[in-house]
Amino acid sequence: MDLRKSVLLTVVIVLIAVVVAAQTSGEPQPDITKVPAAAQPSEHFDVNAATDAYLTLMPASARARSDAYFEGGYWLILWDFLVGAIISLLLLNLGWSAAMRNFAEHVTKGKNLQTFVYWLQYLLLTSVLGFPLAVYEGFFREWTYGLATQTFGAWMWDQFKGLGLGIVLGGILTVLLFWVVRKLPRTWWIWGAVVSMIFAIFTIMIGPVFVQPIFNKVTRLDDPRVTQPVLKMARANGIPANDVWQIDASRQTTRMSANVSGFGKTMRITMNDNLLRRGSLEEIEAVMGHEMGHYVLNHIPKSMIFFLVVIVCAFAYLKWTLDWSLARWGEKWGIRGIGDPAVLPLVVLLGSIFFFVLTPVLNTEIRSQEAEADSFGINASRQPDGMAQTAIHLGEYRKMKPGHLEEFIFFDHPSGYSRIHKAMQWKAENLQMFAPENAKP
Ligand SMILES: [Zn+2]
Repeated sequence: MDLRKSVLLTVVIVLIAVVVAAQTSGEPQPDITKVPAAAQPSEHFDVNAATDAYLTLMPASARARSDAYFEGGYWLILWDFLVGAIISLLLLNLGWSAAMRNFAEHVTKGKNLQTFVYWLQYLLLTSVLGFPLAVYEGFFREWTYGLATQTFGAWMWDQFKGLGLGIVLGGILTVLLFWVVRKLPRTWWIWGAVVSMIFAIFTIMIGPVFVQPIFNKVTRLDDPRVTQPVLKMARANGIPANDVWQIDASRQTTRMSANVSGFGKTMRITMNDNLLRRGSLEEIEAVMGHEMGHYVLNHIPKSMIFFLVVIVCAFAYLKWTLDWSLARWGEKWGIRGIGDPAVLPLVVLLGSIFFFVLTPVLNTEIRSQEAEADSFGINASRQPDGMAQTAIHLGEYRKMKPGHLEEFIFFDHPSGYSRIHKAMQWKAENLQMFAPENAKP
């Protein structure tokens, strides 16, 4: 890129940043959710009419923009897969992988250290080769759809931190797995799955305490107007919480969200500052009820069991496909066997095929848990209008009304339409709760 272009680009980015900052920073938290006429409690309350009334709150242009953003994401699944596959094939066919292994052997004698030195070269090289797609996907595309808040410099800094984390955590896992393969050449695929599982639990456990703070500030929320109703809901549902955590996600994004993270003692519910600033109290309660659902229904441990099944299948598939491809092309690629670190691009390629094909299955597993958390959340919070309004806010980055097959394949959360419909169904079944005489003190 020549200098004039980069200067122009920087100016454009700064201008967009100023406009977005002006749009979002002055937005105060609305006191109440505005309930459209057709969703008001009445004798003629109709679930479909109420759902449609909420949907029409979203301007057609906003719907078109979020549809385009989300549908673009379908294609990115394919492009990410293809670009990753091309990078792996280049590394293998040009002999770069074997060269990186040779260099590692030249630098050190220890097998584990050799694996780590290989990993270091591999991660740096693939990060450079994958950078054009990563910068489009993670930076320019986010700005185009008004979802980003970071300057390019800040974004790059986050990327470097992510790379550092990848060197350490990825390095530990890679060294461990190759050690298992060398020690247990027959049963490595079973023990490899077990080691991966333990490593995943370890990573999730340290996540909220050591990983999140690398990128964001996580603090205890000190606003009784919000913490009192949230902690009240927690106590009523058997959650031993004394604090509400918040994260300054607005450093990176305009998205509203909250999550449950951690494992065992580090498990906690965190809401982001976009939700705090832009959501009404009803919305916050609806979202926190949903997150408490994940907690009470043990979704993280259940996901880990599901992950164990998937990872055992993945390793069994790897054993079979690695033997097959190494017999055919191993010599040509200069790979000595499964215990040779130079095999890594092939492992990544085969693994990406496995997980690419499994996309609908993984999405459906997560989406089912999300639907469960929705049901729990609406019962706990009793805020159907808060839930409907949240669905509209989340519709800024998720298509509101997909087809059935589309939702099945691509959605890792229920669509906005499904969520509003569920909320209005709940409201229809509990109309007496919203009758005017009940609203009076
Ligand atoms: Zn959820």
